[in-house]
Amino acid sequence: MIETMADLGGQPLEPAESFTFACEPALACFGSCCRDKRLPVTPYDALRLGRGLGISAAELLAEHLELEMDPRSGWPALRIKLADGGACPYLTSRGCRVYQDRPTCCRIYPVVRAVKPGRDHRGVREVFLRQDTPHCLGWDQPRRLTPAQWVADQGLAPYHRHNDRLLSLVMHPKRRGKVELSPRQTHAFIAALYNREVLAQMLSDPGFVQRYRLEAGQVARALADEEELIGLGIDWLADQLFGPA
Ligand code: SF4
Ligand code: SF4
Repeated sequence: MIETMADLGGQPLEPAESFTFACEPALACFGSCCRDKRLPVTPYDALRLGRGLGISAAELLAEHLELEMDPRSGWPALRIKLADGGACPYLTSRGCRVYQDRPTCCRIYPVVRAVKPGRDHRGVREVFLRQDTPHCLGWDQPRRLTPAQWVADQGLAPYHRHNDRLLSLVMHPKRRGKVELSPRQTHAFIAALYNREVLAQMLSDPGFVQRYRLEAGQVARALADEEELIGLGIDWLADQLFGPA
């Protein structure tokens, strides 16, 4: 999670500023960037990856992801577990086998998008930066785009919509500096944001709904729609970690 401008590398791109880029299978570098990378997986990335692979949230967690604690923020971070040799496990000789459901980090390259809450914690403010990478031949291609055109081209709108909801948790107004989660809180983090089957099971228990004073309509919507379930998980976890907003 990028939290301060000091964490950002790359040259800022103004909203109307364009850059040239295209990633093509014919390029000599094709697939080289899918190795030796730390590939973060947001809750919505996990939902899409699981759907694309046709596996449950629990199986994705157990077999495909690994947990580490972000040394700066203290937040747990889930990443794609790389294969022996360092390649992304979804890389094939013909490219990415989860291309339609590839995570945010793969879609957004060659730019970085950093966000922070808008005024009075309404909406978000975003900044784009170029990620110049010397071996990437995509920069030499003539296709010209603005950051907004790249976002549309890569189908990033639902990813940004869901990922931005995490700001209400990671930049909660009651948070003070680095978070230090107990093992129990780390377990709650994973259950609420990544293990949708477990969260749905908890929400199906009327005692749980009553104990945490969850609104019946939101629970019903979450049980009917996995994307709503992620939103409820974020709200529930924020309440657990920081108390009522
Ligand atoms: S053009 Fe860049 S992003 Fe595309 S395969 Fe080559 S190194 Fe990766
Ligand atoms: S998910 Fe696909 S695009 Fe992303 S690193 Fe893996 S193979 Fe490459």
